[in-house]
Amino acid sequence: MNHPSMSFVKHNNILMRRSFTILLVCCMVIKLRICISSIPFSLRTIHVHGHFSFHGNEFAARDFGNQYHILPLAVLHPNKVSDIAATIRHVWQMGPSSGLTVAARGHGHSLQGQAQAPQGIVINMESLSSREIQVYKGQFPYVDVSAGDLWINILHECLKHGLAPKSWTDYLHLTVGGTLSNAGISGQTFRHGPQISNVNELEVVTGKGEVIVCSDEKNADLFHGVLGGLGQFGIIIRARIALEPAPKLVKWIRVLYSDFLTFSRDQERLISAENTFDYIEGLVIINKTGLINNWRSSFIPQEPEQASKFTSDGKTLFCLELTKNFNPDEADKVDQEIKSLLSPLSYIPSTLFVTEVPYLTFLDRVHAAELKLRSKGLWDLPHPWLNLLVPKSKINRFAEVVFGNILTETNNGPVLVYPVNKYKWDNRTSFVLPDGEIFYLVAFLPHAIPLSSENDGLESILIRNERILYFCKFEILGVKQYLPHYTTRDEWRAHFGARWGVFVRRKSAYDPLAILAPGQRIFQKSMSLL
Ligand code: FAD
Repeated sequence: MNHPSMSFVKHNNILMRRSFTILLVCCMVIKLRICISSIPFSLRTIHVHGHFSFHGNEFAARDFGNQYHILPLAVLHPNKVSDIAATIRHVWQMGPSSGLTVAARGHGHSLQGQAQAPQGIVINMESLSSREIQVYKGQFPYVDVSAGDLWINILHECLKHGLAPKSWTDYLHLTVGGTLSNAGISGQTFRHGPQISNVNELEVVTGKGEVIVCSDEKNADLFHGVLGGLGQFGIIIRARIALEPAPKLVKWIRVLYSDFLTFSRDQERLISAENTFDYIEGLVIINKTGLINNWRSSFIPQEPEQASKFTSDGKTLFCLELTKNFNPDEADKVDQEIKSLLSPLSYIPSTLFVTEVPYLTFLDRVHAAELKLRSKGLWDLPHPWLNLLVPKSKINRFAEVVFGNILTETNNGPVLVYPVNKYKWDNRTSFVLPDGEIFYLVAFLPHAIPLSSENDGLESILIRNERILYFCKFEILGVKQYLPHYTTRDEWRAHFGARWGVFVRRKSAYDPLAILAPGQRIFQKSMSLL
């Protein structure tokens, strides 16, 4: 039996230990609070030519996808490259325990918060833009641009010199840094490769705050890592983009198919031919009322009488969209050329529609659609987009099930489907390619109507996306996501496959504290990279 005084001492000890633990926890919480609240103060000590904003940063918690909204602690509006380098160096020197991360924000057209930084710093790259777009003529012309420049502004500047970049996205109000961190895919990709295949040189600030110029010849590992690198290895500051002579005009052609096999066979024939069109894309159209009537407002039917009898209602159709570039003195020749390029194709003859527009109007075509959608209040809705890269060997099965069963209509946003040639991609970049020499981009691009419980509601579209992804996984189609979004490390590992090791090695070389692009959710600061 214990002596009463012994039991008193024991009890007192327990009490003291508990009090000490509570005190320790309190101190830790207070220290953490002081630490977090002192971060803005510490940022104020960095010498920058631009400025930090600590309030009114809601814009940095928004993106085109409109599903993820995470406020940063601060936004840097840089005025010079050194502002970005100094900020990252500061965060790097704070070490792993600060938890502070940094995300470059281009035009904020990500879909799932990829340019956001929870309790971190967002760098507003557009503050650095449009100061010096420098065009260089000569045998191999190029343009030097700031990564925060919008492609539309680069186009305007280049056209003044009769030049233009070779490879595009469908929409030009995106920044150079944003598209080069992904790939930049459009109807020119089959012949020029994606935008990441058309870059001569980059200037990058790494996750340690070093400013490095890189290219195929100089610091090549960083150069290839950053291209398609989802912002993981450095912030692109400047890019040198390859140019070509710009045509003045474009013949823009649309034809319809009712059978996917015939449609895709023609698409593949066109992207593989030496002499072919300049732009090749395709659209899936399901049960679209009055399609041909809509086209008539901007396109001219080549067989008006036959075209007027054609109806799209209730049908699944595939639209092949093509362009041929030309200059005014080539007008006669181009019509002959188009005729001969179209002659082996098996589209529905009455559905040949053609129009002629300036090159700029064609390239900036989605902006015209944006203005219309904005006027109807349909631009700022959630966008549960799904972009997939499907190997040619599996595209027919994919089309049969997805376009035949899962997709029931295409009225609330386009569905694109077109093939590209793999040999135009550089496999040293961070971009992961599906198997096979040809693969298809399939892009489901809907907007969702808030609170709708119908097919056009967010919930319903997200479920449809899941069904498509599940089908691809179940049938082992070897599909890769473009603009990928995953929530677990295992999913990222599976996405990169055999290239995961290189991706992790580059991360530990260029951003070992995992400071950069936290919104991609690939690495977490302070977490082991392996
Ligand atoms: P943000 O959304 O701001 O950033 C995207 C990612 O890149 C983020 O992780 C960010 O941290 C990182 N990042 C941004 N700038 C830099 C930088 N300077 N250095 C390092 N990392 C950086 N894509 C195509 O390929 N083809 C298309 O045809 C196409 N059409 C589109 C049409 C519309 C209407 C929209 C909204 C998107 C389209 N996209 C297309 C997708 C688009 O390319 C990507 O969403 C792209 O990331 C958007 O660019 P952004 O400047 O808005 O980048």
